[in-house]
Amino acid sequence: MNYNKKNIRDIDVAGKKILMRCDFNVPYDKKTGIITDDTRIVATIPTIRYLLDQNCAVILTSHLGRPKGEWKKENSLFSAQEHLEKLLGMPVPMTTDVLGPNTKEMAANLQPGQVMLVENLRFRKEEEKNDPDFAKELASLADIFVFDAFGCSHRAHASTAGVADYMPAVAGFLVEKELAVMGGALENPKRPLVSILGGAKVADKIGVINNLLNIADTIIIGGGMAYTFQKALGGDIGDSLLDEDRLNYARNMVAKAEEKGVKLLLPVDNKITKEFSADAEWQVVPAGEIPDGWMGMDIGPKSVELYTEALKDAGTVIWNGPMGVFEFDAFAEGTNAVAKALADLEGAITIVGGGDSASAVEKSGLADKISHISTGGGASLEFLEGLALPGVVCLNDK
Ligand code: AMP
Repeated sequence: MNYNKKNIRDIDVAGKKILMRCDFNVPYDKKTGIITDDTRIVATIPTIRYLLDQNCAVILTSHLGRPKGEWKKENSLFSAQEHLEKLLGMPVPMTTDVLGPNTKEMAANLQPGQVMLVENLRFRKEEEKNDPDFAKELASLADIFVFDAFGCSHRAHASTAGVADYMPAVAGFLVEKELAVMGGALENPKRPLVSILGGAKVADKIGVINNLLNIADTIIIGGGMAYTFQKALGGDIGDSLLDEDRLNYARNMVAKAEEKGVKLLLPVDNKITKEFSADAEWQVVPAGEIPDGWMGMDIGPKSVELYTEALKDAGTVIWNGPMGVFEFDAFAEGTNAVAKALADLEGAITIVGGGDSASAVEKSGLADKISHISTGGGASLEFLEGLALPGVVCLNDK
């Protein structure tokens, strides 16, 4: 997918009123409201600062969770508001309604160099329905739309795509960087391009594998999804995760990789347990030899060796999904080893898709050794699938 979209440097924003869609949908403690990972908020600060430096009046919008059109206290953006005030060092008043009289009054009175936040857009049903009247009303608050919510770019909602029908629409710095790094990796990668895919569900990664089979030199598969492949190749997987409906697909993928000359690596051994728990006793067995009553929880040491070796000369690496149940320390070794292999690569472009692999990298303290950690879980997967992202497609062409 080739996006050549205008960004905030391509148009004159000076002194204008800006409607900026952010992704403040961050993990937080449901009881205290305390934000547990502020990456997505921090990532939008450069765009907000740039706009304020340009003397813009900035109206920030976002969603948080899934309140499904109802006003719910636990989905209020107040924690994001407080955090933004700290990060920006200035007041960030928040509206008491969503596009009601309070929002309209606050937006109308907002002065150049000031910033405000609209409460959770998903408190209104019209948002997720991409209601055109709602989008038009939202657009009427400002002169220019700035889209910086990469994590929501795969959603065609009123605030992500709808508003672009009614006002000039450009990308913020975060969206621009995500597109440049991931787009570059897919379109003109430094080779060899190695992709590592893990996580629980084969179904989620089908489109990605399909697309990467046309682009990558090596595809490494780990995590719960690997067992469907092992079973498809005739192995015993005991009680490991299995997607019965995708056995044929897995067989086809293995054949397609062979046909295209893409190296497809599967685990050669696994750490297995009898129960799904943090302190379960485990042992290592060769892949495809998991007895009944046992389940695979992580890749084994020989797989770690194989995968580390395959990554050694990579020019570009794209990683999405953990190698095992990394939430339990005993089964985080495979995932941590992959994180370390990426961190150790010199001169390579290393890209980690959002979600679990991103938190695994953060947890292992190696984040600053990775070229790019995407802020979009679902969005980055859809990008890797080669699908059009509605939040980006709607922006003005260069
Ligand atoms: P996904 O959302 O598809 O990327 O999957 C992430 C989840 O996959 C994490 O919560 C992991 O605990 C889980 N996972 C990875 N490997 C396994 C496995 N072997 N068995 C069960 N769950 C797994």
